This record gives sequence, structure tokens and C-alpha cells, in this order.
Amino acid sequence: MAKKKTNTTVCTFCLNDLPRPEAWWVDMIMHRSDPNCTSKYSVPSCGKCKDDPENAWLIVGIAEEPQPKKEKKEKKPKKSSKEE
Ligand SMILES: [Zn+2]
Repeated sequence: MAKKKTNTTVCTFCLNDLPRPEAWWVDMIMHRSDPNCTSKYSVPSCGKCKDDPENAWLIVGIAEEPQPKKEKKEKKPKKSSKEE
């Protein structure tokens, strides 16, 4: 029984897997070479990379903060019936 965990994403900066609830979503400028570009897009980042000064110039904002784990004693509230 392989317990597949699909609830992960990849940090844009270090390319490490990170649990989706722990991911920061940071705004980055779409075309950094264009100083007039204000289009942004959000990418997942781990907390470490988000705070990394080397990435600070890339990150123009925080789109979404990690979801703190709250549910503890809940046994999977949503159980979808479809199983692949
Ligand atoms: Zn990272």
C-alpha cells in the first residue's frame, strides 16, 4: 500500500520538496529585465529561501502564508470516494 503524498510542492529557489501547508507563496515580478513590468506571479517558497537575503531582491511580496497546522485529532474530514 503506497501511501501517496501529493500534498507537496517544490520550493522555487532550492527546489526541495516541501509540504504544501508549509509553503510560502511569494510574489515575483514576471519580467525582471523590464523595469516597468509590474506583472507578478506567485511561486512557492520554503521559509528558509523566503528569508534568504539572496532571494530578497526577487521577492516583492507575500501572496500567501503557510497554513498553520491546527487539525490534530481529526481523521481526514474529507474522504473522497474516488480512488485511483
Ligand atoms: Zn527553499
